[in-house]
Amino acid sequence: MRILVTNDDGIFAPGLWILAKELKSVARVVVVAPDREQSATGTAITLRQPLRVQRVTPVVPDVDTYSVEGTPSDSVILALGKLTENGVDMVISGINRGSNLGDDVLLSGTVGAALQGYLRGLPAIAISIASADSHHLDNAAKLAALLAKKILAGTLPADLFLNVNLPDLPLAKIKGIKITQLAHKTHIDTVEEGHDGRREYYWLVRQKLGTNTDKDTDIWTLEQGNISITALHNTLFQKPPLGITDSLCSDLFQKLKQS
Ligand code: MN
Repeated sequence: MRILVTNDDGIFAPGLWILAKELKSVARVVVVAPDREQSATGTAITLRQPLRVQRVTPVVPDVDTYSVEGTPSDSVILALGKLTENGVDMVISGINRGSNLGDDVLLSGTVGAALQGYLRGLPAIAISIASADSHHLDNAAKLAALLAKKILAGTLPADLFLNVNLPDLPLAKIKGIKITQLAHKTHIDTVEEGHDGRREYYWLVRQKLGTNTDKDTDIWTLEQGNISITALHNTLFQKPPLGITDSLCSDLFQKLKQS
């Protein structure tokens, strides 16, 4: 069994390597990730210039590791199409610094990378932690390993595309794991203008559109101190939830607390 690990924060992001290290207890791990920060590149792929790949020394031993001069989606397409000749069984993208919730999943490079695995028939998980400081990456890594184990054992069906977000809290302060829907119309990008002395410039600025109070949404659930799992195969592709049930969530949370 082999798991492809990628991200959009770049090949040396701490979240990527905590994830890779934990997943090594489940299966062989190969890391293929962008050579630099590629957050908010969504599903972008590079079609108008060549892609360069470099084998790099892994941060965690015994992990085949490649950095890609391209987007997260490029990395997964290259990994599955060229770099992993014996194939992989699953794609896990993250652990992202900062949450990927609501409509933002369409902008997220973390989710975009996982999508390329899903489109190629592989189970795919995007996993994020809701803080740029990310003090509790270990909870996310352990949860990813628990999910991966269930998928590889056949306890969960393989046709999954999950978006997982954790609050950046110690496990004792996390209430549980909930199945959620994507929140909608929560942010809007606006334009701020400035002048650098020679030319005008523009910044795109994210604006939050009020508080989300829909109780089954990912944003509300996370704000209440829960871990959110959204079945994107269900939400984006209108498939049944495929074994993502309330009892699975409480089972995962029990196991996470015991791990
Ligand atoms: Mn990112």
